[in-house]
Amino acid sequence: MTNSGGPAVDFDVAVVGAGPAGSVAAYRLAKEGLSVVQVERGVTPGSKNLSGGVLYGRVLDDLLPGYANEAPVERKITRHVTMLMTKDSAVALDYSSRLLCDPVNAVTVLRAKFDPWLAAKAEEAGAFLMTGVRVDSLLTEPGPNGAPTVVGLRAGDDELRTRVVIAADGVNSFLARSVGLTTTPPMNQLAIGIKAVVGLPRRTIEDRFALSDDEGAAFAIVGDCTLGVGGGGFLYTNTESLSLGVVLRLDDLLRSGHGAAEVFDHLGQHPMLAPYLRDGEIREYGCHLIAEGGYAMVGQLAMNGMLVAGEAAGLTINSGLVVRGMDLAIGSGIAAADAAAEAIAKGDISKSGLAGYRRRLEDSFVLQDMRTYARAPQFFERPELYGAYGELAASILQSTYSLDGTPRKHLARVARQALKTSSVKSRRLLRDAVAGVRSL
Ligand SMILES: Cc1cc2nc3c(=O)[nH]c(=O)nc-3n(C[C@H](O)[C@H](O)[C@H](O)COP(=O)(O)OP(=O)(O)OC[C@H]3O[C@@H](n4cnc5c(N)ncnc54)[C@H](O)[C@@H]3O)c2cc1C
Repeated sequence: MTNSGGPAVDFDVAVVGAGPAGSVAAYRLAKEGLSVVQVERGVTPGSKNLSGGVLYGRVLDDLLPGYANEAPVERKITRHVTMLMTKDSAVALDYSSRLLCDPVNAVTVLRAKFDPWLAAKAEEAGAFLMTGVRVDSLLTEPGPNGAPTVVGLRAGDDELRTRVVIAADGVNSFLARSVGLTTTPPMNQLAIGIKAVVGLPRRTIEDRFALSDDEGAAFAIVGDCTLGVGGGGFLYTNTESLSLGVVLRLDDLLRSGHGAAEVFDHLGQHPMLAPYLRDGEIREYGCHLIAEGGYAMVGQLAMNGMLVAGEAAGLTINSGLVVRGMDLAIGSGIAAADAAAEAIAKGDISKSGLAGYRRRLEDSFVLQDMRTYARAPQFFERPELYGAYGELAASILQSTYSLDGTPRKHLARVARQALKTSSVKSRRLLRDAVAGVRSL
């Protein structure tokens, strides 16, 4: 325990949550020699967590060099497929490259294995991990100018006094809301994710997805797979399983009258995906909220004695091609730890003493990427993306590939013809194409 002149504390920093944001923050602080307690409500780290599972891990490699050789990672992604789906067709952009492996760009992880490994890194560095403990509330006291200061946390009958609390308690952070740093997000900024882990033999996965050794594939799917509901599907390869899931915007799901499980079942039975899943055995199934509001959702990140990191701060990006949350959580965990350490060393844990957090996020990829994709959530509110555009693309390719004895036409004429019979207006298509280029 350290006491740099202030009131006695149990720990310098309490980190709430043992997801990627919390464990990285705890690791970094412990390495700096601060006393850290990390509190996780799950019986083990990762037991409450659910993620599609593609980790864009360069930021983790900077912190823990060579992590991909040591951590329980499943496969190194060398193939990215983006698919527009209709009822009976799929139009895909398929990119494969060994270059994505060297250096390792993205890996698949199963959180039940990965989160305990990352939390153990923090423990090895000296953090004290408490699992199976839910933080019920924050301890606050009036601070300078009457503004409240967080001075610790309460879990059941226990109280822990700290200099700084880092709230890394995930989407819809109850802790950040309890002190007014964020409000309950509107439904168009939240999505529900449903995911199953489907077991298959290793060789079967490699043959079906055209992979060798530890290579992996990540499919991002839009269109009929969500029955027209705003969102998308994903199919990722693990070593001996596939992660299959849907992410559905809550407002659109409610409007549609479909149930989330119904949409998930539809995805799994879709004729374009079913061959990949054939004979698979469902090993896990779960659902979880995900922040979908992008930059507009990033609220206040600091107050006297507290910082908010990871998805608790709204840090996720869905660009259509990739879903990111874990790398942003890791980047923000590092920034929060460094800002907390700096403030404690200066003896100023007020909001302005902790202002280095925002500055670090602004200087790093975290807020710069959030800004780059700030318009993406509005772009994905276009209903045509989940129906008409896929139908149009499929109809153009159907006319191109189907040699039915009628004289051939150039592609541009085929496309014009398809547009005429589609519900899509060419002006609308052009406007959306420009918006897509600007947003993604
Ligand atoms: C279906 C789905 C698919 C996704 N796919 C991807 C993907 O492919 N790639 C990607 O990068 N991201 C993906 N994400 C997003 C990613 O999972 C999150 O952004 C990421 O996990 C956020 O990390 P975090 O550490 O901020 O929060 P979390 O991982 O949510 O961790 C928060 C932790 O805090 C704990 N906690 C909460 N409240 C309390 C409390 N009161 N007391 C104690 N502990 C508490 C929780 O149990 C949890 O362990 C996906 C999300 C979903 C739902």
